[in-house]
Amino acid sequence: MVTVRDAVNAAADRTLNALLACPSSERRVLRRRLSELLKVGAPDRAEVETWLYPAPGCAMHLPARIGDYTDFYAGIHHARNVGALFRPDNALLPNYKYVPIGYHGRSSSVRPSGTPVRRPSGQRLPPGADTPVFGASQRLDIELELGVWIGQGNDLGEPIPITSADPHIAGLCLLNDWSARDLQAWEYQPLGPFLAKNFLTTVSPWVVTAEALAPFRTSQPARPAGDPPPLPYLWSESDQACGAYAIDLEVQISTEAMRRDSLPPHRLAVGSAANLYWTLAQLVTHHASGGCNLNPGDLLGTGTISTPDDTGLGSFLELTQGGQQPIALPSGETRAFLQDGDAITLTGRAVANGYVSIGFGECLGLITSALAS
Ligand code: MN
Repeated sequence: MVTVRDAVNAAADRTLNALLACPSSERRVLRRRLSELLKVGAPDRAEVETWLYPAPGCAMHLPARIGDYTDFYAGIHHARNVGALFRPDNALLPNYKYVPIGYHGRSSSVRPSGTPVRRPSGQRLPPGADTPVFGASQRLDIELELGVWIGQGNDLGEPIPITSADPHIAGLCLLNDWSARDLQAWEYQPLGPFLAKNFLTTVSPWVVTAEALAPFRTSQPARPAGDPPPLPYLWSESDQACGAYAIDLEVQISTEAMRRDSLPPHRLAVGSAANLYWTLAQLVTHHASGGCNLNPGDLLGTGTISTPDDTGLGSFLELTQGGQQPIALPSGETRAFLQDGDAITLTGRAVANGYVSIGFGECLGLITSALAS
């Protein structure tokens, strides 16, 4: 018998790791009880309110102690757009439709919304040069992603079957995988992203739980004709039937000049989180398929989520064609990549007919200048 006290005790720690580790049945009991207490007209509402804090006065912290952070590349439109910039004839590599591509990221530099984004310095190869320089990144970029908070983990050596992957997902957030494209271009071969991505990752600090998101699940878009089916260990009919999420994502920019002139933030992109080639369950199953253990509070990034058209491109790399076509802003400014003083806000909203929509809060970062080198 699950009691609400078990879940309350788990939720009362300084981080939510213990709560994330609970079976979803315990989180559901807590959720139901909180809903009863806070409902309009609830008998204990007045007393409960004495325990609430006004949101504007609260500083949000990271919800969990993040043991490990892994970033995937499951946004196929982003992968194709970026691939086309570098390999016009061969945008998607042959492994893409078989393997959920990812890399092991850095958990120490994941921070909550509002943490300033200090422009990183590093090695880059200036155009036309044949030796690198060390200095401030000139091509600082965003990546619009969903973050996945892992709930119950798995033991080392014990894979997670696709049919039981969902209960390992405790909730979702927004994630901005800040990326220094010039550092990335120079360093990424042959082993993949390193310093270009480990200087900061920003998350929206609210964990929107799997239970709260249940009404917003939708079918995974069918693979285009001619695409190979996923290998059997990644295939589940029920996952395909409801493994995607109807979450609208948005990116806004506000430059220093725009704020000075009281101009509202400018929308750069809007699109659906259903634009992923792999479901979140497939990412979890693939991650553990070789025996790697996941732990409560681990964080997965989906990879940049872009739309098939140009209305919802989740990075400047795509928005500006690798910096070649700067975008025009209402202030009269242009941007190829981010400049100091720019503020980027990601927002998300789960929407479904007949249900109250759920916001994800903000995932905000303000770019500050590099340290003098
Ligand atoms: Mn990323």
